[in-house]
Order: sequence, then structure tokens, then C-alpha cells
Amino acid sequence: MWQDDLHDTADGYPQRATSEGNAQLGRVTCKQFIEDFLADYLDATLGPEVVADLERHMAICPPCVAYMNTYRKTRHLIRQEAAPEMPQEMKAILRKFLQEQLAREQ
Ligand SMILES: [Zn+2]
Repeated sequence: MWQDDLHDTADGYPQRATSEGNAQLGRVTCKQFIEDFLADYLDATLGPEVVADLERHMAICPPCVAYMNTYRKTRHLIRQEAAPEMPQEMKAILRKFLQEQLAREQ
């Protein structure tokens, strides 16, 4: 349904017709949005300025919103199936264990 807006670009993100839209899209590219920020955005670990940029991007870039919704659902399912209760401290313990193992080998 977005075919009319999708043109081939280097980043593969849709160029909107309005110049205003392009300027705003240029601040955060779809590639950055998906590869660099999406996971952190959902974890709410980003600063308010970055979040504002991402929300501006989402307001004018429905494909990214669709991708985020799919990603969030998938991640939720993966968490439910693979790690129903993977507590934060468990991750910390695992990381500490690995660091100790590595330190011993040196
Ligand atoms: Zn986008």
C-alpha cells in the first residue's frame, strides 16, 4: 500500500513527496531507526532528544512504525517462549561469570 511512496534510495527508505518530509527524514534515516535505535527505543534507554527525533520520524514514516510494531510483537513472543523470566540480575551474573572466566585465561 506504500508502493506509490517507495522509490529506490541508497538507504531503501521511502522518499516522501514533500520537501519538509525529506528534511525530517534526513535527521534519522530508516536504517538508523531500525538498526541503531529501535531496540533502545523500546527499552526506553535513549535520551529525550533522540526519542523526539525518532517520534518525529515515526510521525512521517509509516513503514518504520509498521516495522516497529512487528519487531515489538516478535520480541515479545520470543521473550515469552525462550525466556519467560530472564531477570536483569541473571544477565549481570552471566556477564560477571564470563568476565571472570576471561580474566582467568589471561
Ligand atoms: Zn523510516
